[in-house]
Amino acid sequence: MDFNLEDLAQYEAYLRGHFLLTTGRHSDQFLLMARLTERPWALKPWAEQLARLLEPYRIHTVVGPAIGGIIPAYAVASHWADGRVLFAEKDEHGTMRFKRGFQLQPGEQVVVVEDVVTTGSSVDKVIALVEQQGAVVKAVGALVDRGHDKPHWNSRGYEAVLRLAKGSIPTWDPAECPLCRNQVPLTRPKA
Ligand SMILES: [Zn+2]
Repeated sequence: MDFNLEDLAQYEAYLRGHFLLTTGRHSDQFLLMARLTERPWALKPWAEQLARLLEPYRIHTVVGPAIGGIIPAYAVASHWADGRVLFAEKDEHGTMRFKRGFQLQPGEQVVVVEDVVTTGSSVDKVIALVEQQGAVVKAVGALVDRGHDKPHWNSRGYEAVLRLAKGSIPTWDPAECPLCRNQVPLTRPKA
């Protein structure tokens, strides 16, 4: 199967319109991956493929950023008999933390799995958290990369960023948004 944005459209996980992103920027395309993960059978081939791509690393501890990364991380790790899933979540100050007793051992190797990466800032925060514990991120896997290749993706210590679907989706500052100029109603699909 091909993994692309159009495949997600059938589940309404890939939308076209006029969207307010969490960054405050606007876009004409939106990824609402909860609509994919709401159907475990539809997520399954995506998770299988990501597990296959991560398999050469032989690392079966997966860290996912809450909320979007939790279900994909679980779906990937469920392919391994010794799979383990931890999720990182923001505390009241917006700092990414392990709660619920989740712990990594010093030197332990992990992979990070996320649903959608845009600038990679969430993944970066997870990597920093893992490193704080003395553990090491060896690879990052994402269902979708909606951003452009950023230099920082290659400047961290890990070996690879694996992405099943790639898009180069434009975003605009509201003041420069062409859809605002045409008075297209703005929506927030996650709200
Ligand atoms: Zn706009």
